[in-house]
Amino acid sequence: MRDPFPLHDPLDRMSDTAQLIDLDRQHVWHPYGPMPGRQENLVVSSASGVRLRLAAPAQGQEELVDGMSSWWSAIHGYNHPVLNEAATAQLGRMSHVMFGGLTHEPAVRLAAKLVEITPAGLEHVFLADSGSVSVEVAVKMCLQYWRSLGRTGKTRLLTWRGGYHGDTWQPMAVCDPDGGMHELWQGHLPQQVFADAPPGGFETPVDPAYADHLRAMVAAHADELAAVIVEPVVQGAGGMRFHNPGYLRVLRELCDEYGVLLILDEIATGFGRTGALFAADHAGITPDVMCLGKSLTGGYLTLAATLCTRRVADGISRGEVPVLAHGPTFMGNPLAAAVALASIDLLLGQDWAGEVKRIEAGLREGLEGARALPGVRDVRVLGALGAVQLDHPVDVWAATRAAVREGVWVRPFRDLIYVMPPYVTGDADLARICQAVLAAAQEG
Ligand SMILES: *Cc1c(COP(=O)(O)O)cnc(C)c1O
Repeated sequence: MRDPFPLHDPLDRMSDTAQLIDLDRQHVWHPYGPMPGRQENLVVSSASGVRLRLAAPAQGQEELVDGMSSWWSAIHGYNHPVLNEAATAQLGRMSHVMFGGLTHEPAVRLAAKLVEITPAGLEHVFLADSGSVSVEVAVKMCLQYWRSLGRTGKTRLLTWRGGYHGDTWQPMAVCDPDGGMHELWQGHLPQQVFADAPPGGFETPVDPAYADHLRAMVAAHADELAAVIVEPVVQGAGGMRFHNPGYLRVLRELCDEYGVLLILDEIATGFGRTGALFAADHAGITPDVMCLGKSLTGGYLTLAATLCTRRVADGISRGEVPVLAHGPTFMGNPLAAAVALASIDLLLGQDWAGEVKRIEAGLREGLEGARALPGVRDVRVLGALGAVQLDHPVDVWAATRAAVREGVWVRPFRDLIYVMPPYVTGDADLARICQAVLAAAQEG
């Protein structure tokens, strides 16, 4: 089965790339895809800086400027000498060792570093293998905390609509229940409590009526709520919506008042993407539990972290089962931890906030023209994140082709064409990314 309009330029059917594409389609699941695959995936042979090199040209392009940072993660770009060096050095020592009964310098130093740079009060770190697992761990921590205190009725979660927290079971239960990727499972998932989506706009003043709505929801369910879980400041895969950080302060106050824990899922927003090192910093609050992932290793390896306060850890550790029963095989993986440490040092060793501001300015300028295009409903930029929202579902295929023709990689979803470029993206490449988003918006 061939695409009527393949992305790659016509390939010799016997070529290695054509063969890879056929095998890929027959055997390999891709994110949110059917089997066999219906669309041709571009074959990437290597990547360096902000450029993905293709195994065979597509729409006349041999290389694409990456607008996606491989889904928020490759903040320093690809093939970075400092991260390569950290990985290679650690590889020469050990790439993995079990974490039960053993420990090692990369994990210990990474945990200490995370405690140092995250909001004050987060003191304990669980190193998990992916973002979704870190959310599972966060939920388990909160449920177990209340159980340890004998409050066995506090087992539910409250979130606001429009969120995304991952694809495993507990995270799915707090993703947006309508029109999202997990609608199919409504009725089978734990039934959580949903508040309305927060009013949009980072700078739009806090709406007291919405704050009252949150208060009413938390108050009505306080006896059964273990935790409130939200993505701070940016709701990512649920729709690329921004809200005033003031709502996080409202949630912090409500959680304290009604005896509910607060989980902030910073898997997408962590490490500078929104202009603050962590989105919680915009609000000046400390959550009880925080999840990190995605850019933690600069996009090199899969690693996530769940941090919690001493209160949460003490509660769990004094309970009737005084341990946190979670321990993935690859917990604390030394290779990933070593690269994560190097990535954080690289980030903090430069004017990352200035770079994010520069990208924010470039995105504002470059995407402004999209407002005038037919079919465009909204243009939003915050930090190194820009989104063009259409008034219809994006034709992903047509939009991707248009961007690839401009030499840029984007991956639209729902009604959104969005970009979160690596922080090292130069001004010319940034302008090119914006041009490509406009082209994609016109054809998608
Ligand atoms: C991507 C994401 C997750 C899930 O992380 P995975 O590593 O894909 O499991 C959870 N929460 C948020 C906010 C995310 O953006």
